[in-house]
Amino acid sequence: MALYTMKEILKDAQAKHYGVGYFNAVNMEMTRAYIAAAEACQSPIIIGTAEALLPYGAFEWLIPMMLEQARRAKVPVAVHLDHTYRFEVLMQALRAGFGSVMYDGSRLPDHRDNVRASAEIVKIAHAMGVGVECELGSVGGLSDESGKADAVIYTEPKDALAFVEQTGADFLAVSIGTQHGVYRATPKLDIPRLRAIRGAVDVPLVLHGGSGLSDDDFHNTIAGGISKINVYTDVILAAKRAVLNHPEADYVDLNRFAEDAMRKATLKKLRLFGSAGMA
Ligand SMILES: [Zn+2]
Repeated sequence: MALYTMKEILKDAQAKHYGVGYFNAVNMEMTRAYIAAAEACQSPIIIGTAEALLPYGAFEWLIPMMLEQARRAKVPVAVHLDHTYRFEVLMQALRAGFGSVMYDGSRLPDHRDNVRASAEIVKIAHAMGVGVECELGSVGGLSDESGKADAVIYTEPKDALAFVEQTGADFLAVSIGTQHGVYRATPKLDIPRLRAIRGAVDVPLVLHGGSGLSDDDFHNTIAGGISKINVYTDVILAAKRAVLNHPEADYVDLNRFAEDAMRKATLKKLRLFGSAGMA
C-alpha cells in the first residue's frame, strides 16, 4: 500500500468520529508489532519516534525501516515525528522523510515564543509538503534532564483559534487533564473544555498521555472531538511484563515475546478507539 500522511488518515477519522492511535517505536520489532496489530483489525495507524527517543534509534536507519514497513502494510500507515523541540532535529526529520512532525513549543516560558517558533516550523515544513502538530497549553509529565516532570497547563478554548490561525498548525495537541507516563492518581478529564476547543477550531485534535486512561475516558474524548491518541507507556509496559514472565528465554526469544505482547496491547487500543474496520 502507498504511504499515507497523518493528514489523510486523520481527515477520515475526524469525518467519521473515530480515534487513530499513534505509537512510538525505536526498532524493527516495535514497528512490526504496531503494523501487525493494525492489519489484524483492519485499522489505520500512525507510528513514529520522538526527539527524546533518538538515543535509541537514529533517523538514518530507523526511518527508512519504518517507511519500508509502512509501504508494505496492508492498511494505511503514516510515519510521524512526536515531541520535538530543537530546530535542527526538525530539519533533519524533514530530510529523513517523515510525512508529518510535531513541534512542541508548549514548554517555552512565554506563549508568544510558542506561537513564533511554531509558525516558523510550519512555514518551512509546509514548503516541503509536511504537516505539523503543535501543542497549546501543556500536557505535562515529560521529564527533563534532571528527571523533574513538567507541569500541566490546560488549553484555553478562547486561545485555540488564534493559535491555529497564527501558527498555521495542521493538528493541535490539547491539554485537558491527561499526562505523559504513568498516572499517580486517577486522571480527571475536562470534557466540556475539549468540546469548547473542538467548537473553536477545525484542525484534528490530538490527545497525549493516552496510557492509563479508562475505556470511558477514551470513549468520552473521542466523542468530544479527539481524532488522534498517543499511546506509548502502556505498550512498553506490556513488553516489560512479557520479558519478566520469561526469565529462562534467550535474547532472541525475549524479542519475540515482547513483540507479541506489544501487538496484543496495540490491538486492544485500536479496537477501543473505534478505528478497527476503518482501513
Ligand atoms: Zn506527548
